[in-house]
Amino acid sequence: MHADAQPRQDEVDIASALAWARTRIDLMDARVLLRHVLQCAASRLVAFPEQRIAEEDWAAYRAFVERRCAGEPVAYLVGQREFYGREFMVTPAVLIPRPDTELLVELALGHLAGRSGARVLDMGTGSGALAVTLALEMDAPEVIALDRSREALWVAMANAARLGASVSFVQSDWFGALGEEQFDLIVANPPYVAAADPHLEQGDVRFEPHGALVSGPQGLDDLQTIVAGAPACLIDGGWLLMEHGYDQAVAVRGLLADAGFAAIASWKDLAGIERASGGRWLGRGG
Ligand code: GLN
Repeated sequence: MHADAQPRQDEVDIASALAWARTRIDLMDARVLLRHVLQCAASRLVAFPEQRIAEEDWAAYRAFVERRCAGEPVAYLVGQREFYGREFMVTPAVLIPRPDTELLVELALGHLAGRSGARVLDMGTGSGALAVTLALEMDAPEVIALDRSREALWVAMANAARLGASVSFVQSDWFGALGEEQFDLIVANPPYVAAADPHLEQGDVRFEPHGALVSGPQGLDDLQTIVAGAPACLIDGGWLLMEHGYDQAVAVRGLLADAGFAAIASWKDLAGIERASGGRWLGRGG
Protein backbone atom coordinates (compact mmCIF):
# COMPACT_ATOMS: atom_id res chain seq x y z
CA MET A 1 0.00 0.00 0.00
CA HIS A 2 1.27 3.45 -0.84
CA ALA A 3 1.67 5.38 2.42
CA ASP A 4 -0.78 8.17 1.73
CA ALA A 5 -3.48 6.02 0.16
CA GLN A 6 -6.33 5.37 2.51
CA PRO A 7 -6.05 1.73 3.69
CA ARG A 8 -8.92 -0.58 2.70
CA GLN A 9 -11.34 -1.37 5.48
CA ASP A 10 -10.43 -5.07 5.64
CA GLU A 11 -6.75 -4.37 6.11
CA VAL A 12 -6.68 -1.53 8.59
CA ASP A 13 -4.36 -2.28 11.42
CA ILE A 14 -2.60 0.03 13.84
CA ALA A 15 0.51 0.39 11.69
CA SER A 16 -1.33 1.24 8.48
CA ALA A 17 -3.68 3.66 10.25
CA LEU A 18 -0.68 5.52 11.69
CA ALA A 19 1.15 5.41 8.35
CA TRP A 20 -1.86 7.03 6.68
CA ALA A 21 -2.32 9.63 9.43
CA ARG A 22 1.31 10.72 9.48
CA THR A 23 1.12 11.79 5.87
CA ARG A 24 -1.37 14.45 7.03
CA ILE A 25 -0.54 15.30 10.64
CA ASP A 26 2.32 15.16 13.11
CA LEU A 27 3.18 11.61 14.20
CA MET A 28 2.84 12.42 17.91
CA ASP A 29 -0.65 13.82 17.27
CA ALA A 30 -1.50 10.77 15.14
CA ARG A 31 -0.58 8.51 18.06
CA VAL A 32 -2.46 10.55 20.67
CA LEU A 33 -5.60 10.53 18.53
CA LEU A 34 -5.40 6.80 17.86
CA ARG A 35 -4.93 6.08 21.56
CA HIS A 36 -7.99 8.22 22.21
CA VAL A 37 -10.12 6.35 19.68
CA LEU A 38 -8.95 2.93 20.85
CA GLN A 39 -8.92 4.03 24.50
CA CYS A 40 -5.59 2.30 24.94
CA ALA A 41 -2.15 2.81 26.42
CA ALA A 42 0.74 4.05 24.27
CA SER A 43 2.40 0.66 24.61
CA ARG A 44 -0.37 -1.07 22.63
CA LEU A 45 0.39 0.99 19.52
CA VAL A 46 4.01 -0.08 19.74
CA ALA A 47 3.53 -3.68 20.82
CA PHE A 48 0.69 -4.66 18.46
CA PRO A 49 1.13 -2.77 15.15
CA GLU A 50 -0.62 -5.61 13.27
CA GLN A 51 -3.75 -5.44 15.42
CA ARG A 52 -6.90 -4.82 13.34
CA ILE A 53 -8.99 -1.71 13.94
CA ALA A 54 -12.78 -2.05 13.99
CA GLU A 55 -14.66 -0.28 11.23
CA GLU A 56 -16.28 2.30 13.49
CA ASP A 57 -12.96 3.09 15.17
CA TRP A 58 -11.30 3.56 11.80
CA ALA A 59 -14.10 5.92 10.73
CA ALA A 60 -13.81 7.85 14.00
CA TYR A 61 -10.04 8.02 13.62
CA ARG A 62 -10.23 9.36 10.07
CA ALA A 63 -12.63 12.07 11.24
CA PHE A 64 -10.27 13.09 14.06
CA VAL A 65 -7.27 13.18 11.74
CA GLU A 66 -9.15 15.38 9.25
CA ARG A 67 -10.16 17.78 12.03
CA ARG A 68 -6.58 17.95 13.27
CA CYS A 69 -5.47 18.50 9.70
CA ALA A 70 -7.85 21.49 9.58
CA GLY A 71 -6.12 22.93 12.66
CA GLU A 72 -8.26 21.89 15.63
CA PRO A 73 -6.12 21.51 18.75
CA VAL A 74 -5.42 17.95 19.88
CA ALA A 75 -6.45 18.89 23.42
CA TYR A 76 -9.97 19.79 22.25
CA LEU A 77 -10.22 16.68 20.07
CA VAL A 78 -9.35 14.33 22.92
CA GLY A 79 -10.99 16.56 25.55
CA GLN A 80 -8.04 16.71 27.90
CA ARG A 81 -4.60 18.14 28.58
CA GLU A 82 -2.02 17.39 31.24
CA PHE A 83 -1.10 20.16 33.69
CA TYR A 84 1.30 19.79 36.61
CA GLY A 85 1.07 16.00 36.36
CA ARG A 86 -2.73 15.72 36.24
CA GLU A 87 -5.17 15.31 33.36
CA PHE A 88 -7.62 18.20 33.02
CA MET A 89 -10.77 18.04 30.97
CA VAL A 90 -10.87 20.82 28.38
CA THR A 91 -13.52 22.05 25.97
CA PRO A 92 -13.46 24.96 23.51
CA ALA A 93 -15.01 27.05 26.33
CA VAL A 94 -11.63 27.19 28.08
CA LEU A 95 -8.03 27.98 27.24
CA ILE A 96 -5.85 24.89 26.87
CA PRO A 97 -3.54 24.78 29.92
CA ARG A 98 0.07 25.65 28.99
CA PRO A 99 3.29 24.36 30.54
CA ASP A 100 4.27 28.05 31.01
CA THR A 101 1.51 28.41 33.57
CA GLU A 102 3.10 25.78 35.81
CA LEU A 103 5.44 28.62 36.78
CA LEU A 104 2.55 30.28 38.61
CA VAL A 105 1.96 27.07 40.58
CA GLU A 106 5.62 26.95 41.63
CA LEU A 107 5.57 30.62 42.58
CA ALA A 108 2.37 30.29 44.57
CA LEU A 109 3.69 27.29 46.47
CA GLY A 110 6.99 29.05 47.09
CA HIS A 111 5.40 32.27 48.33
CA LEU A 112 3.14 30.48 50.79
CA ALA A 113 6.05 28.25 51.85
CA GLY A 114 4.16 25.34 53.33
CA ARG A 115 1.70 27.47 55.29
CA SER A 116 -1.47 25.67 56.29
CA GLY A 117 -4.98 26.97 55.71
CA ALA A 118 -4.09 29.84 53.36
CA ARG A 119 -6.90 31.57 51.47
CA VAL A 120 -6.26 31.61 47.74
CA LEU A 121 -8.16 33.26 44.90
CA ASP A 122 -7.75 32.20 41.25
CA MET A 123 -9.06 34.92 38.94
CA GLY A 124 -10.20 33.76 35.50
CA THR A 125 -9.85 30.08 36.31
CA GLY A 126 -10.86 28.68 32.89
CA SER A 127 -10.35 24.92 33.07
CA GLY A 128 -9.55 25.29 36.77
CA ALA A 129 -5.97 24.14 36.21
CA LEU A 130 -4.45 26.64 38.67
CA ALA A 131 -7.15 26.48 41.34
CA VAL A 132 -7.41 22.70 41.33
CA THR A 133 -3.64 22.21 41.31
CA LEU A 134 -3.14 24.61 44.22
CA ALA A 135 -6.00 23.02 46.16
CA LEU A 136 -4.28 19.65 45.77
CA GLU A 137 -0.67 20.76 46.28
CA MET A 138 -1.11 23.05 49.30
CA ASP A 139 -1.77 22.13 52.90
CA ALA A 140 -5.50 22.53 53.63
CA PRO A 141 -5.99 25.72 51.64
CA GLU A 142 -9.27 27.49 51.10
CA VAL A 143 -9.41 28.06 47.34
CA ILE A 144 -11.93 30.22 45.52
CA ALA A 145 -11.92 30.31 41.73
CA LEU A 146 -13.84 32.76 39.61
CA ASP A 147 -14.61 33.17 35.97
CA ARG A 148 -17.11 35.31 34.12
CA SER A 149 -17.89 32.41 31.76
CA ARG A 150 -20.51 29.97 32.99
CA GLU A 151 -19.32 27.38 30.46
CA ALA A 152 -15.77 27.65 31.79
CA LEU A 153 -17.01 27.22 35.35
CA TRP A 154 -18.75 23.97 34.39
CA VAL A 155 -15.45 22.64 33.07
CA ALA A 156 -13.53 23.83 36.13
CA MET A 157 -16.10 22.29 38.48
CA ALA A 158 -15.92 18.99 36.62
CA ASN A 159 -12.15 19.02 36.98
CA ALA A 160 -12.30 19.78 40.69
CA ALA A 161 -14.79 16.94 41.18
CA ARG A 162 -12.84 14.45 39.06
CA LEU A 163 -9.53 15.22 40.71
CA GLY A 164 -10.96 15.42 44.22
CA ALA A 165 -10.05 19.07 44.85
CA SER A 166 -11.99 21.25 47.23
CA VAL A 167 -12.54 24.55 45.41
CA SER A 168 -15.41 27.05 45.66
CA PHE A 169 -16.51 28.55 42.36
CA VAL A 170 -18.00 31.99 41.75
CA GLN A 171 -19.29 33.42 38.51
CA SER A 172 -17.81 36.90 38.49
CA ASP A 173 -16.40 39.40 36.03
CA TRP A 174 -13.15 39.97 37.94
CA PHE A 175 -13.99 41.54 41.33
CA GLY A 176 -17.65 42.22 40.41
CA ALA A 177 -19.37 39.48 42.45
CA LEU A 178 -16.65 38.85 45.01
CA GLY A 179 -17.87 40.82 48.03
CA GLU A 180 -15.70 41.54 51.03
CA GLU A 181 -13.44 38.50 50.84
CA GLN A 182 -9.77 38.76 51.80
CA PHE A 183 -7.02 36.46 50.58
CA ASP A 184 -3.44 35.54 51.39
CA LEU A 185 -2.72 35.01 47.70
CA ILE A 186 -4.31 35.96 44.41
CA VAL A 187 -3.18 34.16 41.25
CA ALA A 188 -4.31 34.98 37.72
CA ASN A 189 -3.60 33.88 34.19
CA PRO A 190 -5.83 36.51 32.59
CA PRO A 191 -6.28 37.33 28.92
CA TYR A 192 -3.18 39.31 27.93
CA VAL A 193 -2.81 39.15 24.16
CA ALA A 194 -3.01 42.41 22.22
CA ALA A 195 -6.12 42.61 20.02
CA ALA A 196 -4.11 42.93 16.79
CA ASP A 197 -1.46 40.32 17.66
CA PRO A 198 -0.92 38.25 14.48
CA HIS A 199 -0.33 35.09 16.51
CA LEU A 200 -4.11 34.99 17.13
CA GLU A 201 -4.40 33.85 13.51
CA GLN A 202 -2.00 30.93 13.95
CA GLY A 203 -2.16 27.41 15.37
CA ASP A 204 -4.24 26.31 18.35
CA VAL A 205 -5.18 29.82 19.56
CA ARG A 206 -7.51 30.23 16.57
CA PHE A 207 -9.80 27.70 18.24
CA GLU A 208 -9.50 29.01 21.80
CA PRO A 209 -12.02 31.42 23.35
CA HIS A 210 -11.16 34.94 22.23
CA GLY A 211 -12.32 36.32 25.57
CA ALA A 212 -9.74 34.22 27.41
CA LEU A 213 -6.90 35.50 25.23
CA VAL A 214 -7.44 39.09 24.16
CA SER A 215 -7.37 42.12 26.42
CA GLY A 216 -7.43 45.48 24.71
CA PRO A 217 -4.98 47.14 22.33
CA GLN A 218 -1.85 46.22 24.32
CA GLY A 219 -3.17 43.14 26.08
CA LEU A 220 -2.91 44.96 29.40
CA ASP A 221 -6.52 45.87 30.18
CA ASP A 222 -7.35 42.88 32.38
CA LEU A 223 -3.94 42.84 34.09
CA GLN A 224 -4.57 46.50 34.97
CA THR A 225 -8.05 45.75 36.35
CA ILE A 226 -6.67 42.93 38.49
CA VAL A 227 -3.78 44.96 39.88
CA ALA A 228 -6.08 47.88 40.66
CA GLY A 229 -8.67 45.74 42.47
CA ALA A 230 -6.37 43.29 44.25
CA PRO A 231 -5.36 45.46 47.25
CA ALA A 232 -8.95 45.53 48.55
CA CYS A 233 -9.00 41.70 48.49
CA LEU A 234 -5.56 40.99 49.99
CA ILE A 235 -4.69 40.76 53.67
CA ASP A 236 -1.73 42.90 54.71
CA GLY A 237 1.26 40.83 53.63
CA GLY A 238 -0.73 39.03 50.92
CA TRP A 239 0.65 38.32 47.44
CA LEU A 240 -0.59 38.91 43.91
CA LEU A 241 1.00 36.72 41.20
CA MET A 242 0.07 37.02 37.52
CA GLU A 243 1.08 35.46 34.25
CA HIS A 244 1.57 37.86 31.35
CA GLY A 245 2.90 38.15 27.82
CA TYR A 246 6.57 37.76 26.87
CA ASP A 247 7.01 41.52 26.49
CA GLN A 248 4.80 42.80 29.33
CA ALA A 249 6.98 42.36 32.44
CA VAL A 250 8.10 46.00 32.58
CA ALA A 251 4.56 47.27 32.10
CA VAL A 252 3.14 44.91 34.73
CA ARG A 253 5.82 45.85 37.28
CA GLY A 254 4.85 49.46 36.57
CA LEU A 255 1.18 48.71 37.28
CA LEU A 256 2.13 47.01 40.55
CA ALA A 257 4.32 49.95 41.59
CA ASP A 258 1.59 52.48 40.78
CA ALA A 259 -0.89 50.51 42.89
CA GLY A 260 1.49 50.57 45.88
CA PHE A 261 2.72 46.97 45.93
CA ALA A 262 6.04 46.07 47.56
CA ALA A 263 8.56 43.31 46.79
CA ILE A 264 7.74 43.59 43.07
CA ALA A 265 9.45 40.98 40.93
CA SER A 266 9.22 39.07 37.65
CA TRP A 267 10.05 35.43 37.03
CA LYS A 268 11.20 33.57 33.94
CA ASP A 269 9.49 30.61 32.30
CA LEU A 270 11.28 27.52 30.96
CA ALA A 271 12.20 29.41 27.81
CA GLY A 272 13.97 32.08 29.90
CA ILE A 273 11.28 34.72 29.25
CA GLU A 274 9.87 36.90 32.04
CA ARG A 275 6.42 35.34 32.12
CA ALA A 276 5.01 36.13 35.57
CA SER A 277 5.16 39.15 37.84
CA GLY A 278 3.85 39.91 41.26
CA GLY A 279 4.09 41.87 44.42
CA ARG A 280 3.20 41.96 48.08
CA TRP A 281 0.49 44.13 49.55
CA LEU A 282 1.66 45.57 52.85
CA GLY A 283 -1.41 47.67 53.51
CA ARG A 284 -2.23 51.28 52.75
CA GLY A 285 0.62 52.48 54.93
CA GLY A 286 3.06 49.91 53.49
N1 GLN B 1 0.04 32.24 26.56
C1 GLN B 1 -1.10 32.31 25.72
C2 GLN B 1 -0.70 32.54 24.29
O1 GLN B 1 0.23 33.25 24.05
C3 GLN B 1 -2.06 33.40 26.14
C4 GLN B 1 -2.69 33.06 27.41
C5 GLN B 1 -3.45 34.20 27.98
O2 GLN B 1 -3.84 35.16 27.33
N2 GLN B 1 -3.70 34.07 29.24
O3 GLN B 1 -1.30 31.98 23.43
